Amino acid sequence: MSSPHQNSDTAACTATSQIHGGAAAQTGLRPVVPPVHLSAAYEFATLRDAREAFAQREVGFTYSRTGSPTVALLERRMAELETGTGAVATASGQAAIALTLLALAGSAGQSPDGRAYPQTPAGHVIASAKIYGGTADLLNDSLADAGITVTWMDPRNPAQWAEAITSQTRALLVESIGNPHADLPDIAALAEVAHSKGLPLLVDNTLASPYLLQPAKLGADFVIHSATKYLSGNGTALAGVVVDTGRFNPNAEPTKWPQFTAATPRFGNTCLVERYGAGAVLHLIRAKYLHDLGPCLAPWSAQQVLEGIETLDVRVDKHCRNAEALAERLLTHPAVQRVRHPSVPGDPNAKAAIRHFPRGTGAVLSFELAGDYRDVEQFINALGLFKLAANIGDSRSMVAHPASMTHCRLTPELREAGEITEQSIRLAVGRENPEDLWTDLEKAFVAAGLGKNDTSTAPARQETTV
Ligand SMILES: *Cc1c(COP(=O)(O)O)cnc(C)c1O
Repeated sequence: MSSPHQNSDTAACTATSQIHGGAAAQTGLRPVVPPVHLSAAYEFATLRDAREAFAQREVGFTYSRTGSPTVALLERRMAELETGTGAVATASGQAAIALTLLALAGSAGQSPDGRAYPQTPAGHVIASAKIYGGTADLLNDSLADAGITVTWMDPRNPAQWAEAITSQTRALLVESIGNPHADLPDIAALAEVAHSKGLPLLVDNTLASPYLLQPAKLGADFVIHSATKYLSGNGTALAGVVVDTGRFNPNAEPTKWPQFTAATPRFGNTCLVERYGAGAVLHLIRAKYLHDLGPCLAPWSAQQVLEGIETLDVRVDKHCRNAEALAERLLTHPAVQRVRHPSVPGDPNAKAAIRHFPRGTGAVLSFELAGDYRDVEQFINALGLFKLAANIGDSRSMVAHPASMTHCRLTPELREAGEITEQSIRLAVGRENPEDLWTDLEKAFVAAGLGKNDTSTAPARQETTV
């Protein structure tokens, strides 16, 4: 079991920046811990100040739907941890993905003046077929309703992605560690494909967190998180964030991106790149989509995430070591057909893991149970310590059956491309004692009639340390 590499090239996601990143000097009572600002609105001294702030000619908080001090601290901290230029926080990871795709591929982006016309078809997105079920629902259903089309691609075949790009394509989307099978795509190669056509690569970094990987360093243009998971780490608040890495420049091909490069009445007949330069995309996400659609992050939830981030390194190390220990043991269990985690010898992602993930590849793993659906049901129902719940990144270990839970609405084609079978079981390994977790799994194998019936021939079990 490798120890955490403190000197790897993941500078900027350090324990210090996890705790202090983005914090400004406190005035007034000077609390050591940044306070939670629970206020829906922010007061103006004069009508002139209000007018200028609402017209976005001056910066300042107006109403908490588009920003508040506690949420802004989370945004600055995430921008720092992901080596970005700025961030927008949202009510959930799902909202962060939705708003980013609407800003980049919505129908306003296809109109000469950046205004949406009902008759103008929206843009096209190429997304990894090995993806969180909620993201698949979003693209297959709600964003499809908004006219955005999608092509699903194998994340480990960048050449296919290049072929799928059309004149309508506006974004490429991939998960740095795929949910549920922990696939590791070649982010650098996908970034190259995207950039060769002037397109941004969006990386959902939820399963890795910036502690394990900073996609900006591999060429990602936007890094998206469900902060509900490892960033929060305590299974309480839902939250999302999108970080702009400062790479994407809509002005390089202005006619392709009128929502940023053309003057619109929405923004006082000025264009966003002129007014906000590199911040144009985040400004559209915040001032149009977050403002109009309203999936804003509550200050109290932002505080939960900020508190979680302070211990990100310590927690994620333990998550990873626990997951590695269980993956290793599952591998030798006769009732397990296949274990998917990059730490497992011979895993197709092992090489990418060594190259890009010196600290580990996270704590989501899956395995194929050697049995039928009834066995799967008995096995899952017999687990005690592993909660049957649709979350990851909590202190508590969780089990999920993707085919009937997180990925239940996938089309048969997407389920096949994502290799989600009736036998696929996802574990989100928590931070309990690994021996207790293994005991729980063993007990469930026995309850399902899948125990090691002859322990004398079972491979000697290694004492794993964490
Ligand atoms: C959970 C999850 C999301 C959605 O985030 P919410 O905060 O639940 O809305 C998106 N992507 C991945 C990889 C996830 O695991």
